[in-house]
Amino acid sequence: MNYRKVFLIFFIIFFSLLLGGCSKEKEITAEGQGFYMGTFVVLKASGANAETAVEQGMARIKELEEKMSVNIPDSEISQLNRAAGQTDFVPLSTDTLHTLRSGLKYAQLSQGAFDITIGPLIQAWGNFMQEAQIPAPEEIEQIKKLVNYHDLEINKKENSARLKKNGQRIDLGGIAKGYAADEVIKILKEMGIQSAFVNLGGNVVALGGKPDGSSWKVGIRNPKIQEESLIAVLTVKDKTIVTSGDYERNFEEKGVRYHHIVDPQTGYPSRSGLTSVTIVTKSSMEADALSTAAFVLGLSDGMKLIQSLDEVEGVFITTEGQIHITSGLQDSFTLTDPEGAYQCHEKK
Ligand code: ADP
Ligand code: MG
Repeated sequence: MNYRKVFLIFFIIFFSLLLGGCSKEKEITAEGQGFYMGTFVVLKASGANAETAVEQGMARIKELEEKMSVNIPDSEISQLNRAAGQTDFVPLSTDTLHTLRSGLKYAQLSQGAFDITIGPLIQAWGNFMQEAQIPAPEEIEQIKKLVNYHDLEINKKENSARLKKNGQRIDLGGIAKGYAADEVIKILKEMGIQSAFVNLGGNVVALGGKPDGSSWKVGIRNPKIQEESLIAVLTVKDKTIVTSGDYERNFEEKGVRYHHIVDPQTGYPSRSGLTSVTIVTKSSMEADALSTAAFVLGLSDGMKLIQSLDEVEGVFITTEGQIHITSGLQDSFTLTDPEGAYQCHEKK
């Protein structure tokens, strides 16, 4: 064996090891979990950079929570709320400003059914936690007057905003998780990840397919059953699936359930005849805002809004046990309700 041959064999062995190493690396699946934005977060990614990607994705969620949470006293949103009624504009990061501007967009689109100035009402209801109380009707009447998205003034040039009236309060609970989910996916894509799954308490994004190439299956919860049980499954790739339901955050008093999706017109938890709305589309922020908006609008107006938007699909479940799906979901929607208690209708 001459030197050239030895070198060639060495070269082949070296390269096959390298390639083997690479393909092994590609199979890495990393997972991160944590409690952020008032909810349980799970992030799974597969690919060569999966571990770093998951770490950076989780860090981004934390960063956004620190900017937008109303429960963090020095968050940008808390500062904006504290300055309500003052003449000065509050400087904001592009993240917060973008979320506020999108919030206004969906407020206009839903004619105020979705309103990010809902804060004073949410606060009056004690955030719908277990220790929450029903506010007096007169109190609701008064506080309702503070909810008006037209009173949020944004200075785009200066990256700042202000609330016109004393006592007004922004609450991004219906949109910020969607933005965070989109931002995580952006980071993962930048790092070359092609298969991932993120769930921010019901704000799901499936990036690509599963590591084996098949579609992700995302369940829709059965609203009538308290424990986690599914009513339907959506089979998807590269989609976000976001559900707003009356079973999420709520409390009961004298047999009545009060949940956290509030109708800005009444000041009370929305009684639109829906028990959950699931939106399937590309942008998780859009899906987040629209699921809350459509819930408040109810089946008829909510369905009209969703059908008027391109590449936005929806699953509406009524309190009467009917499921209405948009026609674009025909191939991805499977009813799994074991008791056959639900009737499914497709909207053309
Ligand atoms: P979840 O937070 O369970 O994912 P949603 O996306 O529907 O559910 O958001 C509900 C949250 O949004 C509430 O906890 C509150 O912070 C806020 N919210 C409630 N009602 C409205 C509304 N009409 N418009 C905008 N935000 C709302
Ligand atoms: Mg929402």
